[in-house]
Amino acid sequence: MEASISTIHESLEGYLDKAFEMLGCAEDSRLKVLLKNPDRRIEVEIPLIRENGQMTVLHGYRVQHNSARGPFKGGLRYHPSVDLEHSEILASLMTWKSALLNLPYGGGKGGIQLNPKDFKPQELEVITKRYVEKMHMLIGPRIDIPAPDMGTGEREMSWIVDAYSKIYGHQPAVATGKNVQLGGIEGRREATGRGVATVTAWATEEEGISLENATVAIQGFGNVGSEAALHLKDMGARIVSVSDVRGAISRREGLDVKQLVKFLYERREYDSVVDCAREIACDSVSENSEAPLFHEVDILIPAALEGVIHSDNVDQVKARLIVEGANSPITLQADRSLDAKGKVVIPDIMANAGGVTVSYFEWCQNLQGLQWERDQVYLELDRWLKRAWDQLIKVKKKFKCSYREAAYYIAVDRVKSVMEMRGF
Ligand code: GLU
Repeated sequence: MEASISTIHESLEGYLDKAFEMLGCAEDSRLKVLLKNPDRRIEVEIPLIRENGQMTVLHGYRVQHNSARGPFKGGLRYHPSVDLEHSEILASLMTWKSALLNLPYGGGKGGIQLNPKDFKPQELEVITKRYVEKMHMLIGPRIDIPAPDMGTGEREMSWIVDAYSKIYGHQPAVATGKNVQLGGIEGRREATGRGVATVTAWATEEEGISLENATVAIQGFGNVGSEAALHLKDMGARIVSVSDVRGAISRREGLDVKQLVKFLYERREYDSVVDCAREIACDSVSENSEAPLFHEVDILIPAALEGVIHSDNVDQVKARLIVEGANSPITLQADRSLDAKGKVVIPDIMANAGGVTVSYFEWCQNLQGLQWERDQVYLELDRWLKRAWDQLIKVKKKFKCSYREAAYYIAVDRVKSVMEMRGF
């Protein structure tokens, strides 16, 4: 069971408060209000006539947190848990993630409260295009640029480009993570997981852990978790436990993650890691999708939902290094308790920033009418991540603080100074 949404909200506020303190502006209540609260909260109703003739009304959201450094930027999530407060937290995280990477963006997030599995593709197309119909005046290449998130991908982003372009003329830069033929960039889908693996490798180096033969557990074997697994395996690590909503599988010798990806995503023969246990070698199969969180490993990567590690289960976490593939997977209390035990946490705004970084390349590509090659994308991705990582390490050493504190210090400082520069 995940932590409540209010606990996750409080956690983010706690991280921000610490940054205000480190920046010496803890007493500036005006600034704190501006930085904590979003610029705009949008909620729309989306009616849909289903095949049986019945009308259903869906709820769509977009929260635009801060645009001091550039247009709002962030994912569009299709999941039953999407609501205004969820979007608000995730939009704020996007502001800090973009700032930490020094991307010329602010932060936004939104989505539609639904389970995509309950709808036919034609229905999802209608829903997505209705969302744009209601939202078009508030998004745009220079206003707010959606991207894939949980439950959305190339297909949804391409529908957004279509609906928006019908009003404003061809506008591929209105969304990132589109199909390559429609102005999408090579490597965007892989970028978040690839970035998680790259940052994990730097973190092991920093912490004196050998990645060769290191054991890794990954909670969530979706787009982010599976890509991270593939890359970490290539780097010599052993992926010993993975899970999805239906359960977990594990193998001490290391799971054949390439085969797993083949069955789940290339051939689409199965839709859960649990079913793949029939085809690949593993020691155990369990119905508990939280199992990887508590596995005896060197590295843990929570790559699913928010708030999965909280005060009630943090004592069961055994990994020495925890890399946040998901957004906000650890609550403030759990974070403090991990820190007290000498465990190291690499925060989401650094660990999973590869996605938005490649989104930025895609947006630049669209505005310039260019097409980048995959090698160029990966080269630049590594350069951008490394620059942010080096700055983070420098601040961490200066303040003798945690990785998260250093990350928020840099991000809040950047947003704060641009706000002051622009005036209120
Ligand atoms: N949804 C992703 C995230 O949380 C990507 C956002 C983007 O590419 O704009 O970082």
